[in-house]
Amino acid sequence: MLSKDNGYERFGKEYLALTEISKTLTSPLELQELLDAVMKKIVTVVEPADVGSIMLWDQSSGLFRPAAVFGFDLEIMKEMGLRAGESVTGKVFDEGQARLLCKPEEVAEAMADMRSFNREVFARSLRTSFLPRCVLAAPISVGEKKYGVLVLETLNGKAAFTESDLPFIQTLADLIALAIDRDYLEVQLDTVRDARRTEFLRAELMAILSHELRIPLSAIKGYSTALQLEEVEWSKEKEQEFLNLIEEECDNMQVMLKEILDSSLIEVEQLTLERQPTRLPRIARDVVQEAQRRTEKHRIVVDFPSDFPIVEADQRWIKQVFRNILENAIRYSPEGGLIVIRGATRSADVVISLADQGIGISPEDLIPIFEKYFRVRSATDYHVAGTGLGLPVARAIIEAHGGRIWIESKLGEGSTVFFSLPKAKGVSENE
Ligand code: ADP
Repeated sequence: MLSKDNGYERFGKEYLALTEISKTLTSPLELQELLDAVMKKIVTVVEPADVGSIMLWDQSSGLFRPAAVFGFDLEIMKEMGLRAGESVTGKVFDEGQARLLCKPEEVAEAMADMRSFNREVFARSLRTSFLPRCVLAAPISVGEKKYGVLVLETLNGKAAFTESDLPFIQTLADLIALAIDRDYLEVQLDTVRDARRTEFLRAELMAILSHELRIPLSAIKGYSTALQLEEVEWSKEKEQEFLNLIEEECDNMQVMLKEILDSSLIEVEQLTLERQPTRLPRIARDVVQEAQRRTEKHRIVVDFPSDFPIVEADQRWIKQVFRNILENAIRYSPEGGLIVIRGATRSADVVISLADQGIGISPEDLIPIFEKYFRVRSATDYHVAGTGLGLPVARAIIEAHGGRIWIESKLGEGSTVFFSLPKAKGVSENE
């Protein structure tokens, strides 16, 4: 159509074509779909064109790669990678000006430096070894930002492009450039938004954690200042009580710092496990021994059947799961009481439960309980310092082992945390 150089008719067709193409380019499609749709449309409105491609500069590989093609075999064309300055694409990109090449020697000269690998891909994707008869190419750029080149080609001698097609193809390339620019800006904007959000979350998290860590720290400072008051004569028992409280708060801080560290380790390492045959009852007893030293108000009982199977687990991490859950059972039973750790066997896995008689959790708070940094508001009334990381860390560890973790609780009556671990295949041994 555009090869016909007769005034109004040509103008009308170009106008219609541009309207249609701009409509496609402003539709809410993904960039790839948009470029595919536009390429299809361009080749139908620029009639002499048999094939066409949008070649975009890929910064990371330092090559022009086809972003959308028409008439070529796309799968084969995907192998094409043109270096800076290579072939028509490279030259038009460097010059920043649309080009028309319609003499065989002009086409041959512009394509002479095309590497043999690309030449072979080009021939295979067109199923012909002939060079194109006529090439029309325009740079795709917006201001200083250069994105690539729009190339249209005729393959036989019947119809050819003319000089008067140059402004039109340049306008098409400019429209494509605007669509690409818009997409890149959106991606950049998303990246900035994500970075801001991450920054904001980090700042918020720091504020929460510093606040939580200040609670035991203030208590330690208070008791030690009291002990040093010269004007007060403390009894031996009172002194011992303050020292015990200081020790307890130090333990609390240690637990919190360990949870923060575990949580960041899990995020960075994405939890690598060193599995080995593991006796869960033994780990439970070790952890209970550690914990029982720190509390007299709670009685902690371990109850496993004698034929409890061995599991394949990372002992270090599983111990941490027991610690986090047991720590909660103690901290959220301020009145003390019985804590029971049980083991049960099912056909494919084992289930461990840790039950306490503490403050319990209401049904609506049970849903987000394994989310990072979640803390039940009413629980904080008991002034229990915490990070909201103990349970999420436990969940990450259990799920990495192929198990599940869940919790059942009744407000005011107590909670039971359960976790399952797959049985080791072919291993069965008594404790
Ligand atoms: P943290 O204890 O450091 O706040 P966790 O992730 O271990 O963080 O627990 C999240 C919240 O779940 C706690 O703040 C607490 O409100 C609630 N919770 C956990 N375990 C228990 C329990 N055994 N009894 C009552 N509430 C619990």
